[in-house]
Amino acid sequence: MDQFQVGDIHVQRIVELEDLFIPISDMLPDAAREDIARHRQWLEPWALCPDTGRMVLPVQTYLVRTSRHTILVDTCVGNCKSNTFFAPWHNRNDLTWMQRLAAAGVGPADVDFVLCTHMHLDHTGWNTQLVDGRWVPTFPKARYLFAREEFEHRQGLADSTFMENVVPVMDAGQGVIVAMDHALDDQVWLEPTPGHTPGHVTIHLASNGQQAVLMGDLMHSPVQCAEPDWRAVSDGDPDLARATRRRFLDQHVDTDTLVMTAHFPSPSVGRVVPHADAFRMKFV
Ligand SMILES: [Zn+2]
Repeated sequence: MDQFQVGDIHVQRIVELEDLFIPISDMLPDAAREDIARHRQWLEPWALCPDTGRMVLPVQTYLVRTSRHTILVDTCVGNCKSNTFFAPWHNRNDLTWMQRLAAAGVGPADVDFVLCTHMHLDHTGWNTQLVDGRWVPTFPKARYLFAREEFEHRQGLADSTFMENVVPVMDAGQGVIVAMDHALDDQVWLEPTPGHTPGHVTIHLASNGQQAVLMGDLMHSPVQCAEPDWRAVSDGDPDLARATRRRFLDQHVDTDTLVMTAHFPSPSVGRVVPHADAFRMKFV
């Protein structure tokens, strides 16, 4: 399933790619080989390739349509971007994501807001596109909301991701710096979930008594529900990320809240349930 109803809010996954990523032992360096072995049976082959030990990892956007707004949460890798972290994401030339967005009935001028859970390269890529050698915002009428702590942190780094995916949006006057608990309205708001990055936020949806949360990169593999203390190699502050992950799981376990993950393999969306002395995701 790739479409969900949260009260009156319609949410649709727009998948850019779902491929083998780096080995799980590289992504989750706390996990010794024997620890991974404990979980192989339920992870393979859906989330973990039995032959290579590489993770299965989607990169996707959540298209959120409320009665008032058309919103994109996270914008994938994009085309023509510089990327030294993972070679297959460097200098991509693939319009699949744009075609899937169009098939969902959304053209670039229809997007009202772009929200980024954080400013890593796989969450900000389609913020911009290269037109005649110049980076321009992909969505000409959208306001792009950036959490202040995240913006200032990335501004300090001034790396290619910031220069390609964020600066052109600010230069066009479409960027809006907001607090980490900013509310768009009573249906869509941000909550601070720092650790993976300093200004990482989750996006919360509520309508007619139903709730969903778009969790960004609080976790990268479903095995982290079972092992919340396993850090991701990309967690900027591993201890804070661990504490935030535990708080998130404790908050949502045994509730009806739909958890919409950025990187768990398809179907990517489920509810947190207790399992042994930790958690699992029960997918919908
Ligand atoms: Zn990510």
